[in-house]
Amino acid sequence: MALSETEIQRQKEIQQAEELLFSGRQELGFAKGLFLGDFVADWAMPYPRLSDAQQADVDRALTELRQFLDEHLDPEAIDREADIPRHVIDGLGRVGVLGMTAPKEVGGRGFSQMQYCKVLEEIGARDASTAVFTNAHHSIGIRALLLFGTKDQKEQWLPKLMNGEQLAAFALTEREAGSDAANVQMKATPSEDGSHFILNGEKRYITNAAIAQVLTVMARTPIPGKDKDAITAFLVTPDMEGFEMIQPRMPKLGIRGTATGRFRLNNVRVPKENILGPLGKGLRVALTVLDFGRTTFGACCTGAAKTCLRLAIEHANSRKQFKKTLGNFDLVKKKIARMAADVYAMEAMTQVTASLIDRGLEDYMIETAMLKVFTTERLWDAVNDCFQIHGGSAYFDDSPLGRILRDARINQIGEGSNEVLTSFIALVGMRGPGMEFKEIYDTMLKPSRGLSKAWGAGLKRLSAAVKVPEVPVRNDELKSYASQLARLVWRFNFAVDKALILYREPVMEMQLIQERIAIAAMELFATTCVLSRWDSELTALGRNGHDASDHVAADLYVRRSFRKIREALRDLGDNDDRALLQTADAVLGTSGASQHNGA
Ligand SMILES: Cc1cc2nc3c(=O)[nH]c(=O)nc-3n(C[C@H](O)[C@H](O)[C@H](O)COP(=O)(O)OP(=O)(O)OC[C@H]3O[C@@H](n4cnc5c(N)ncnc54)[C@H](O)[C@@H]3O)c2cc1C
Repeated sequence: MALSETEIQRQKEIQQAEELLFSGRQELGFAKGLFLGDFVADWAMPYPRLSDAQQADVDRALTELRQFLDEHLDPEAIDREADIPRHVIDGLGRVGVLGMTAPKEVGGRGFSQMQYCKVLEEIGARDASTAVFTNAHHSIGIRALLLFGTKDQKEQWLPKLMNGEQLAAFALTEREAGSDAANVQMKATPSEDGSHFILNGEKRYITNAAIAQVLTVMARTPIPGKDKDAITAFLVTPDMEGFEMIQPRMPKLGIRGTATGRFRLNNVRVPKENILGPLGKGLRVALTVLDFGRTTFGACCTGAAKTCLRLAIEHANSRKQFKKTLGNFDLVKKKIARMAADVYAMEAMTQVTASLIDRGLEDYMIETAMLKVFTTERLWDAVNDCFQIHGGSAYFDDSPLGRILRDARINQIGEGSNEVLTSFIALVGMRGPGMEFKEIYDTMLKPSRGLSKAWGAGLKRLSAAVKVPEVPVRNDELKSYASQLARLVWRFNFAVDKALILYREPVMEMQLIQERIAIAAMELFATTCVLSRWDSELTALGRNGHDASDHVAADLYVRRSFRKIREALRDLGDNDDRALLQTADAVLGTSGASQHNGA
């Protein structure tokens, strides 16, 4: 039977995802554990802390950075002029920010991801343009070289990138390859003698493209001996013949200081020595690098949300209406309290996620996707609430809030739009239990396969269904929350199993179901990080003889989060999805397209 075009596309996507994500056995991470009903506490509890020596290094770096930023960073001017001045870039290089996680031997500072996140939080708190510039250069630019470069490549390229003498960019996006990153059309054809690849095509929306001296560029190459092509990463320099900068600075709404460019490669001859990572594994390079980038994204958003909270508090405590300061009104209090709770959670989640990288967990894709979606959405809420508290004054050009609002909007779109990542979280997470069910189902249809694998899978599903996991906290005052969290993990697992049994393979198309599962998973992760941080702070306070009662923001976060989890799980079976999709289909003119989604 001939497969439909949609089915062929879907099979292709599954094959690509399998190749990228699921090669080889890996240790069970926190998020994958959640989907299996397993609370792998070890990855999040006790709360990860820097060693004293690491903390001292961070403190020194932050002191130097703060002094530099106080003296030289002018976010309003950067926004107005749509440019980050060269002396700011040079200064960031001098204080080590541009090569911070690179080893000391190549001129970096050898910082861990947790340490680096602390530094980027500081930049994110002040100016989003500078944060995105730094992220593009370091977290997704240099990082590709650090992770996938050969010894020769590192020696050749890294030293000048460490101090900003040269800058890096990361070029994946094209007109046809935005969210659908695997659809890269740029071609890299091997030369006849095999010494070069000839690159042709166009890239757009590339941060730093016009100011970078080294660009990691994704292009499609034929794979020798195979009847298919795949994406490969190349190191390209703008002085190569045929490199054409079409638009060095695309005018834009926010993060206006960053140079976002569009360029074309016309028969650009790139030596084969410039291939970064294995031939045909460019998507793996891209996704791994983006994974790192998402932790610093979380840190930058946390910094920006802290700024919003500070501005909101200042205004609420000074502006009077009805003979009272605004902070006396419950509807203002509600916004500020929510912000404080979210900021506590954002910081905790960033710290735990960064520690997964530092501790060597191999696969943390779900956690970094959760962090990206969570922190960007919470920052947007914080900006919105802060703007509202400032009333009309936020709307005028002498307030920083217009810039902060314009800057923050990119976060939900860039480095994987939140919709794509929400689906990703649910689908990759559900794959574990899904495979176990498939084993059972296939064996029921064909008992000759032998029962042992299906028996093992059945036992695992059964044990997750009857066993409530343990959430280990040290402080008695958190024990009740810990047991509520454990029960919610159990309920979540039950809900995932139920969705898999009820909808089977079509669940891969049901984004409204996926969204609820992803929200519940994200909140379970966020609350775990909050409880872990809270527990460790209580322990430290108790040890130092302080009053351990000042954790109202953490307490509020956990309460609100439990509510959200219950709501997401309840809505899996009680919702208006059918009506919603019918309405969308009717107005879009796509009637009948959503037959899978009648939950
Ligand atoms: C300022 C800026 C800087 C950037 N810097 C870089 C860079 O340095 N390097 C680089 O390679 N790229 C960069 N990008 C590109 C960025 O990563 C893409 O914009 C992003 O991946 C989204 O792609 P797109 O814009 O083509 O949107 P589209 O793919 O057209 O998506 C538009 C919207 O459709 C929805 N959508 C899409 N697919 C799905 C789906 N499967 N399910 C549900 N909803 C969906 C989402 O809401 C999404 O926001 C940058 C973009 C901007 C704006």
